[in-house]
Amino acid sequence: MKKLFITIIVLLLLSLLVGTSSAAGFQAVDQVGQQEIVAFKLNRDAVNMSLDEYLVKMDMSIEEFYSLPGFATPNIESKPDCKSQSMQSKSTQYTMLSSGPEEVQAWVVCDDDMKSWYEELVGHSVTWDDVFMWAWNILEGGDDPFWPEFEIEYTMGAGHYTSWISTNSGNIYQLFDEGRSNHPKPGDCDVGVYMTGQVTGDYLGLSEQGGDDFIIRVRDTGIMPLANLWQHEASHNFGAPDHNPGWFDFCIMSYTWAFYVRSWCGSCHSTIYSNRFHFG
Ligand SMILES: [Zn+2]
Ligand SMILES: [Zn+2]
Repeated sequence: MKKLFITIIVLLLLSLLVGTSSAAGFQAVDQVGQQEIVAFKLNRDAVNMSLDEYLVKMDMSIEEFYSLPGFATPNIESKPDCKSQSMQSKSTQYTMLSSGPEEVQAWVVCDDDMKSWYEELVGHSVTWDDVFMWAWNILEGGDDPFWPEFEIEYTMGAGHYTSWISTNSGNIYQLFDEGRSNHPKPGDCDVGVYMTGQVTGDYLGLSEQGGDDFIIRVRDTGIMPLANLWQHEASHNFGAPDHNPGWFDFCIMSYTWAFYVRSWCGSCHSTIYSNRFHFG
């Protein structure tokens, strides 16, 4: 018991150290392209287990599980589930809601593999507009927790999205670079969001810690809901670090819990809060 206690303390101290060094690596947005790139790797342990097995591993009851802070992810799956409103009307609505510095204009770039994955999911061909609608849906699901916590609202305005014929490398670092150089964020957008339908090994996403872009993969993400993945990578732009594996961190930045929770731990919350005008 004492040994376990000491182990926990050591782990906590270690995670504190890791957190501190990552926070120190946080840089201002004007140094575009020079930020540390952080990767989200699939937690095979979690993905290959059923929820029941996972709870046993975590020594947690289902009641405790459901009372986790921010538990609100009845998985959107990797399935396109488009809202009926049009992109235009939604973005107009948000423009009226908030035109302050907390409104983050996204530049959304979807690759051809995302389109073919969408077609595979629905069993018929789709248009690029359908793909953009799906992307917007992911963004809207992903940014939900940012508003009540930080009054940050992401928008995908008219003309702020494009298609991308990506090289079939299966390498997410390469794809991130390719997307950014072939389809750079225009001047009137704050953040570049790249989406790929390629299977990229164990990597689900990359983000610039303290930067202004990130990439997510929309295919075969296991139990990782796309909205959670989006939220995780977007949080890096505001300086929140990874908790890897983050066994005791009920935080979207934890490699262990990002699948299930939509909230941030106290430390990540205050990091994002103090950087909430990052794009302002
Ligand atoms: Zn991460
Ligand atoms: Zn955290």
